[in-house]
Amino acid sequence: MIPGPTLFEPSVLRELSVTTLSHTSKEFIQIFNETLKNLRKIVFVDENYKTVILAGSGTLAMETSTTNFIKSGDKILVVSNGYFGDRMIELLSRYPVKVDILKVNEPGSRVETEKILEKLDEEKYSLITVTHVDTSTGVKQELKSLGEEVKKHHDETLLVVDGVCSVAGEELYMKDWGIDVLFTGSQKALGVPPGLAMIWLSPKALEKLKETKSTLTPYYMDLNRWIKVMEAHEELKPAYFATPAVNLIMALNKSLKLILEEGMDKRFRRHKTLSKAFRAGIRGIGLNVMAKNEDYAASTVTAIHLPQNIEVQQFLAEMQKRNIIVAGGLYPNIKYFRVGHMGPVNANDILATIGAIERSLHKLGTPIELGKGLTEAQKILTKEDM
Ligand code: PMP
Repeated sequence: MIPGPTLFEPSVLRELSVTTLSHTSKEFIQIFNETLKNLRKIVFVDENYKTVILAGSGTLAMETSTTNFIKSGDKILVVSNGYFGDRMIELLSRYPVKVDILKVNEPGSRVETEKILEKLDEEKYSLITVTHVDTSTGVKQELKSLGEEVKKHHDETLLVVDGVCSVAGEELYMKDWGIDVLFTGSQKALGVPPGLAMIWLSPKALEKLKETKSTLTPYYMDLNRWIKVMEAHEELKPAYFATPAVNLIMALNKSLKLILEEGMDKRFRRHKTLSKAFRAGIRGIGLNVMAKNEDYAASTVTAIHLPQNIEVQQFLAEMQKRNIIVAGGLYPNIKYFRVGHMGPVNANDILATIGAIERSLHKLGTPIELGKGLTEAQKILTKEDM
């Protein structure tokens, strides 16, 4: 139950144990082609948008999705609701650009759209980056109106969204929401072992990419080269820049089929209901969720404050004894833990986790009423017929 890598479907994992195909074989090109098409469907974009799949983790996607669009001296606005927003600041600070920062004062809060728009009134930016769900705090950024507002302020600005902890779990409509560049990693709600980075590019981003021809972006991350490879695969032709992660792409292909079989609406609803039930359970136990209110709370991950008398490592060990693995926090000075509820997660996982939290806290001497968390979660699960 950590926020990535998540649990993977056996049929997805099996793709990793089959004979590795030649990356230029007809069979693999067909798989690559299907994967690119299905990736468009899960973020609701049409064929004018391009998708790129790279071998690497989410951080590679962060760097590729930004450095391809920058020139020396450009101004970039980074919105940070936590550790991964801060990572973007650190990453871009290595490049000769001016990075303006909008940051929350305390973890669990978020930068509101009005604050972003105020900043846009003052300055014209080449890029704005936001993290849809910051995995360090379980806080979700409001994105619905942001793209449109950004365009109203300055048509040249690209909106770049970190969807590592949201794509395929959290409602996200790339085209309708006016997102120009979206990226994710394989190991979270997409349900594929770590090792793939995916980037979606809007027509506007594609135009800007050609114009910019960035000399700042590292060689392997050159999207102009990668797009040619992806375009060839879309036309069922072989193309090479650097060897693709063949088996991981086969696993992604399988996972996307399962995701689309479930249907995106149903999948979003499942994540929403399970996370709501989980948070209700947490509050029933008497613990506090880090996200300041229900509106901020993500459907994919929850961060939870621990009672002051309990050490995080002690708590994680008790959980593990009960066969549930949860994650510690990413802020060393805050006593908290994180639970991922994305991918093929179900009501039983939620109840088992809440039950194990209750027993672990009880074992560690916290005065709690056993079963209270479970009761609160059950109320929501039954109401939603799960
Ligand atoms: N962004 C977010 C929101 C993340 O949660 C993570 C990973 N947890 C990353 C970026 C970086 O991804 P990776 O660890 O795969 O490099």
